[in-house]
Formats: sequence, C-alpha cells, structure tokens
Amino acid sequence: MADIAELAAELAGIELSTDRALLRLKSRDFYWYSPILKQQLDGKAADLVVRPKDEAEVLRVLSACRARRVPVTVRGGGTGNYGQCVPLEGGVVLDMAGMAAPVAITDGVVEVEAGAKMIDLDLWCREQGWELKLWPSTKRTATIGGFVAGGGAGVGGIAHGTMRERGNFVGARVATMQDPPAILDLAGAEAAPVNRTYGTTGVMTRIRVPLTPAQAWRDVAIAFPDFVPASRFALEFAFADGIPKKMCGVFDSQLPPYFKGISDAVPAGHALALVMVAPAALGALRELAAEHGGSIVAEQDAVAAERDPERTPFYEYCWNHTTLQVLKKDRGVTYLQCRFPFEDTLKAVEAVRIRFRDEVWMHTECVRFGGRTTMSALPVLRWTTRERLYEIIAAFEAEGIGIANPHVLTIEEGSNYRRVPGDQLGFKRMADPLGLLNPGKMRDFTPENAAA
Ligand SMILES: Cc1cc2nc3c(=O)[nH]c(=O)nc-3n(C[C@H](O)[C@H](O)[C@H](O)COP(=O)(O)OP(=O)(O)OC[C@H]3O[C@@H](n4cnc5c(N)ncnc54)[C@H](O)[C@@H]3O)c2cc1C
Repeated sequence: MADIAELAAELAGIELSTDRALLRLKSRDFYWYSPILKQQLDGKAADLVVRPKDEAEVLRVLSACRARRVPVTVRGGGTGNYGQCVPLEGGVVLDMAGMAAPVAITDGVVEVEAGAKMIDLDLWCREQGWELKLWPSTKRTATIGGFVAGGGAGVGGIAHGTMRERGNFVGARVATMQDPPAILDLAGAEAAPVNRTYGTTGVMTRIRVPLTPAQAWRDVAIAFPDFVPASRFALEFAFADGIPKKMCGVFDSQLPPYFKGISDAVPAGHALALVMVAPAALGALRELAAEHGGSIVAEQDAVAAERDPERTPFYEYCWNHTTLQVLKKDRGVTYLQCRFPFEDTLKAVEAVRIRFRDEVWMHTECVRFGGRTTMSALPVLRWTTRERLYEIIAAFEAEGIGIANPHVLTIEEGSNYRRVPGDQLGFKRMADPLGLLNPGKMRDFTPENAAA
C-alpha cells in the first residue's frame, strides 16, 4: 500500500481525515444484521477518509489514488446491509456527504448531487409539487447515490416497481478510474452499469431520477385476526387501480409487539398491515379492510411524521426496518430477502410461513416487477447456524421463491431478482481496469494487472 501520508499531502485543500475512530465509523454499514458478514467484516477499515465538495475534487482524489494503486470505496449514508461500503482492502473511503445539493427539476426529472439525503431531496421536490417515486425505509439517513448503487427497492414499489424498471433511473454523471479519470454523462440503458453495482463501476457525482406529483400520504395501520386475511387484503389493495398508494407491508403476529409506537394499538395475536394511501382513497381503504375483517388501529399524516425526528413514519416499521425493530430488542435474529411467485403468491407464502413459523417470522411487502404485482419479503429469522440458514433458503427456493441472499458480499451472489440487466462487467473493465473501485465486491472481475 502506498504511503498514506504522501497521498494525504497530495490531496491538500480537500477535506480529509486519518482519525482512527472516524475511519472505523466511516468504514461500517449495517452488515452486522448478518452473523456471517459480521464475522467476515468486523475490523475492516479504510486508511483515509476524504470528503470532496465537487467533481473536480473527486477527479483529483481518483487520479492520486490511481497513480498510487490505492483502492477507493464510495460511501453515502452507510446504511447498506451487505457491507457494500466496507473497504475490504483499506485505502480511501470517499464520503459523498459534501456533494448534496439539488440542481434542478426539468420535465418532472430531478437532477441532484449524489450525496444528497433522500429526505432532504424529497422535501425539496415537495416544495415544487413533486415527490420521489421510490425511497428506502432509510430515507431519513440514506443518500440517493447509495440507493441507486446499493439498494433500489422500497417505499413506492407497490406503484412504481424498483430502480431497475426502465425509466426509474434516468441517468448519472459518473467519475471513472480510467487513465486519466474522467466524467461520463450516462443516460437510460447506458447508465445501467452503475445501477446497483455497489460503486464498483464508477463514482456517481450527479443523479437524475423521475418524480411523481406529491400526495399528502396517510399512514394507516390495520389489524387482522390472522395473517391470511391480512395478506388477501394486501394483494387486493395492491391490485386496486383506483386507490393511489405508496406502500403495503404485512406482518405476522409475532412482529407488531416489536413496533414501539404502535404496538399497544395492535391486539395480541393479531397480524398487521401497514399502508400509505392517498387521502382521497381513505374511504375505499376502510371498506376493503372491513371486507377482510380488518380494523384500523392507528392513522397519521405520513409527511408530517417523517419531518419530526420524535415520530416514526410507518415506513420505518416496513422493508428492512422490520428487522431493525426486532434487533433493537433481540440480537439473536437475522433476515432473508425473497420474492414470491407472481401466480399463487399466497400459496407460496403460506407454505414457508407455516412450515417455519417458529423460526421465520413472516413479513411481506407488495411490489411490482415488470408490470406484475407480487409480494417480496424480508422475513425475520431466528439465527442458529449457517447450515440451518442455507437449509431454509433451499426450502424457500423449492417453493419457487427467489432469494436475494443478504449474507454474501458480491453483487453476483447477492442480487438474484434484484440484478440490473446490462454489461456491468464489460463496463467495469473500461471504467476501472485496475479494479481499484470497491475491490472484492464484483466477483467475476479480474483486474488488468492481475490477468496479465
Ligand atoms: C434499517 C434498514 C432499512 C433498509 N431499508 C431498505 C429499503 O427499504 N430499500 C432498500 O433498497 N434498501 C434498504 N436498506 C439498505 C440501505 O439503507 C439502502 O439501500 C440505502 O439506499 C443505501 O444508501 P446509503 O446512502 O446509506 O448507501 P451506502 O450504504 O453508503 O452505500 C451503498 C453502496 O452504494 C455505493 N455508493 C454510495 N454512494 C455512491 C455514489 N455516489 N456512487 C457510486 N456508488 C455509491 C457504496 O459504495 C455502497 O456500495 C435498509 C437498510 C437498513 C439498515
């Protein structure tokens, strides 16, 4: 490894630090959800954290690192779940927090610097009558760059699909590790190689995503005597084209007691559905809930709740926040990421829910993929051993359930139905031939110098 003091001297004028506590902090994400990744990643840290304030500084950092063969791992909010922003080989962590300004909204597309927090971006868009189509349940801490490069599914998925749907990611300005590093402006399918590739194919400096007209979303919690009617309600809600909606998650009865803030409202032993719905459709929602035996047990203004640090928007019980809510009280659990079949969705859900009920607490989210609606799931799983985890994964797969394994480090092993189509490997060979961007995360890539 090149001398870090020399590298830091060369980068004089750019905000940087070698403070050990800060290096440790900026080298971590939420990989510890997985006992397997925890064992692999604990203790990994960068040697230098650099916080550029513009594209020129990003290019200076990449040039200096390329010349010295120093790895660079990009970091947004550090909320990823699979160690995506943990530097496996040390080097520089490129903290994008200093590049967070919105640029413009044109024809319903927002352009923004990649380090913008999604909550700030959404609030800025709302002031102009728009909102983001999609956001992760970590909206209050995650960045748009991290969402495109490391996430891509979440709130809004019930209406708009995921970030891999054509049109949901309009384009980006991307800094490469070529000789010399350069800025590429990529649009449409050209930009696919930086979509969900964990920052291995370039550093996004600016991002363009489409917006949708802002709604005054209502958070609604509906309790059901059992998981099955709750799930039937959820799918019917998802398919109801006349109801504008942003989210619908379903939780088996073991989970609501962990949801501080609404747990008291949910009768013991009841399953729960959490939805975000437009005010105009509250009447239709009430009817649909009643038809399935559901009772509304809590309701709030979703937009006001997310602006108030003291309150919990309901999406912070959904998606991968469900796991976090349980982990806050019980460190003995982990989770899975699944996608159920489009046909006979509930049959597959029930097959695994009933079979593993003591070990796997079912949590599903309604979502669209390629124009079809199904449920994805982030069930909470009681951790015992790696062998048992893989037995459960195999049993899910035998039911036709796709697993995007959250207990592995590489894009290829972990993405499954979340993999974005496109020649990511070919792009990586062009944009980062030496393999200095987040090394170790793209399994099929061999650096130019190693291949020679
Ligand atoms: C409680 C909890 C709930 C979650 N819920 C969801 C959810 O609903 N949906 C979802 O998709 N994910 C979810 N996640 C995962 C994660 O929060 C999101 O994917 C989030 O969008 C990541 O953004 P970030 O800024 O924290 O990215 P980081 O964790 O900082 O980075 C993620 C990846 O993107 C890369 N990266 C970051 N910025 C750039 C850039 N500018 N250019 C190139 N590469 C970059 C990093 O190198 C890393 O590989 C959840 C995680 C937790 C802990």
